[in-house]
Amino acid sequence: MNSKHEKVIIIGSGPAGFTAAIYTARANLTPLIFEGYQPGGQLTITTDVENYPGFEHGIMGPEMMEIFRKQALRFGAQSIFKNVTKVDFSKRPFTIWVESEQYTADSIIVTTGAAAMLLDIPSETNYMGYGVSACATCDAFFFKNQTVYVVGGGDSAMEEANFLTKFASKVILLHRRDKFRASKIMQDRLFKNPKVSVMWNSEVIEVLGETLDGKKKMTGLKIKNTVTNKFSEVKGDGLFLAIGHKPNTEIFKGILDMDEKGYLKVKLGSTKTNIEGIFAAGDVADSYYRQAVTAAGTGCMAAIDAERWLESQHS
Ligand code: NAP
Repeated sequence: MNSKHEKVIIIGSGPAGFTAAIYTARANLTPLIFEGYQPGGQLTITTDVENYPGFEHGIMGPEMMEIFRKQALRFGAQSIFKNVTKVDFSKRPFTIWVESEQYTADSIIVTTGAAAMLLDIPSETNYMGYGVSACATCDAFFFKNQTVYVVGGGDSAMEEANFLTKFASKVILLHRRDKFRASKIMQDRLFKNPKVSVMWNSEVIEVLGETLDGKKKMTGLKIKNTVTNKFSEVKGDGLFLAIGHKPNTEIFKGILDMDEKGYLKVKLGSTKTNIEGIFAAGDVADSYYRQAVTAAGTGCMAAIDAERWLESQHS
């Protein structure tokens, strides 16, 4: 089968992928970026981004990713809106498949990101960015003096609930059981916060909302008590999901080293994976910071690591 050969292939878009593309394109490596089926990554499901330096008045997530993309294309990056379905990193050049098409590359940068786990109810997708969010650091600011709910019982939920109290007037933590799995110290901090209350044994069944003057807005939640199976409705302006993240690493299983949650392991202070010539950047290798700006930073590192590695192969 004929395959197209590239010096650098970037798998995944988002701030890490596009930054890696900008840098490798400017190094004349004409990178090919596979953007996947959610081009732009997680930022395309947030609304305003106000914490990315350089955008003084904030910017919409999808618009920001479009600017990143245009900047990469301006320097000669090539983009394909398809998902990579299979990889073979056992020999060089490395091979990747996009359904039945085949590509080879001297070096690969993996920036497939992570996805916030969702509740899997249709109304949650409908109000995503209009009350529903999976990132308190990104969106808490928009809920000044409002009532918000947080779902989850782990460290993230405790952290996000506490963080939200800097803005919201009232934060209600909804947990499906009667016990948190979060660390003791995080629980203590939460229980001490006068703005937070907890609704135990509670599951969100539906996000309720309305559309006024063409603007969608969440207005409350339908909740099921997991012990009594009784339903109730509560009023509120926001719903933050803090039920965990899942890295997009399915196709690299058994090939690239991962931690127990599936995040790619990189050598400390670099973007090098366990296979020479394969680099990883952004949320796919970071379960801790998960910010657009840190993803862009590691995307830049991956591009520089790849460029230097390619150079070393010819000397
Ligand atoms: P996590 O520990 O896996 O907790 C997820 C929580 O969400 C659990 O309480 C779980 O309920 C709940 N949940 C999962 N699916 C749900 C669903 N469909 N509906 C309702 N609830 C659901 O995830 P995390 O809190 O994001 O933490 C991930 C890792 O990062 C952990 O190791 C954590 O310690 C670490 N972390 C550390 C810090 C820190 O130290 N500052 C901060 C954040 C995260 P059940 O309990 O019933 O399973």
